Amino acid sequence: MRKLTGLLSAALISLSVFSLKAQDDFLFKPKQVFDGKETHANWVVAVKGNRITYVGAKYTGQANEVIELKNQTLLPGLIEGHSHILLHPYNEVSWNDQVLKESIAERSARAVNHLEASLMAGITTMRDLGSEGAGYADVGMKQAVEKGVIPGPRLLVAGKAIVATGSYGPKGFHEGVEVPLGAETADGFDDLIRVTRDQIGHGADFIKVYADYRWGPNGTAEATFTITELKTIVEIAESSGRYVVAHASSEEGMRRAIDAGIETIEHGDGATPEIFKMMKEKGVAFCPTLAAGDAITQYGGWKRGVDPEPARIAAKRKSFKMALDSGVKLVFGGDVGVFPHGENVRELEMMVEYGMNTEAALISATSANAEQFHLDQLGQIKAGFLADIIAVQGDPSKDIASLKKVSLVMKDGKIYKNEN
Ligand SMILES: [Zn+2]
Repeated sequence: MRKLTGLLSAALISLSVFSLKAQDDFLFKPKQVFDGKETHANWVVAVKGNRITYVGAKYTGQANEVIELKNQTLLPGLIEGHSHILLHPYNEVSWNDQVLKESIAERSARAVNHLEASLMAGITTMRDLGSEGAGYADVGMKQAVEKGVIPGPRLLVAGKAIVATGSYGPKGFHEGVEVPLGAETADGFDDLIRVTRDQIGHGADFIKVYADYRWGPNGTAEATFTITELKTIVEIAESSGRYVVAHASSEEGMRRAIDAGIETIEHGDGATPEIFKMMKEKGVAFCPTLAAGDAITQYGGWKRGVDPEPARIAAKRKSFKMALDSGVKLVFGGDVGVFPHGENVRELEMMVEYGMNTEAALISATSANAEQFHLDQLGQIKAGFLADIIAVQGDPSKDIASLKKVSLVMKDGKIYKNEN
């Protein structure tokens, strides 16, 4: 026994000697580092395993591999706030036909491509806002990424999402025809409790609810659930440690979502200064999805930069300015899937085009989205944080379009792309 103890302590001593000499796996030497909050010239970043071990200008360690990133900016992997990996652009196949005619197998096969395109574009985390009729295929995709079966960003998924009976599509069929809906219906206290819990049980990381939809008499966006119903969903989700996000475009839908305790509101086209003020006061974040409306209007024939701006686009530009002036927290999330996966940066370009400070847009896509989505180890280049790192040509804090020139992608300490 004594001999064994002696052997063990000898082994421990040699282990500690080894750890003193321990090396980092990678040392990145970019022109500058945007750490999720600000830009620092001449910083280097070291990574060991799946963690960032050093960030700063005075590295004294050793690394197995040194990667020079000439004229490049190193920054946290981008965090997309509103994606649909199970949808593809509506100018290829309409939303209705995707939901009605594409099998879940086909949609999942497409999602594999979408996930790879997103990761290669520097998106290392995505909050996916509903499978749109593909059941829990999003949960399966997330598991496949986590098991290393397919490459893709870290996923936060909503599952089926919840809609009020009669509100959501596809619509317009004979009453005898049963069609798959783009989300799960639930109404009233008991039903909403059951469905919310069921979605949680099937792997939803958060709950998405449609607080309004285009079911008004003339196709206008009108509220769906009562405040009591929305509060029920929030109470059940929060009991399980999850939060709720709401699709809402109308003033009333947004007001109810805010009152019910929802954390982020998506779209918000019909918001007023008063609504944004309420959101700011209650700490509700706003995800404007500028690029989706822009894409849909172009699918309808509008030639961006050639034709005059249609009323819908002009109104969105105005309401985004209103949101900026209010100081409400802005989430980067373009509703990607409506437009091609991998072109996520279109949303950031539009946020800047519509008046947001470039650095603020960059913060939104990194540290601010991480904070908003409760990801306390992501969104910053900081010692101890998870090694989700990208590099781009140029300086994205001055020119947001630099984010389209991704030269390196590392997720969880593993390099997926390196053009250096
Ligand atoms: Zn969406």
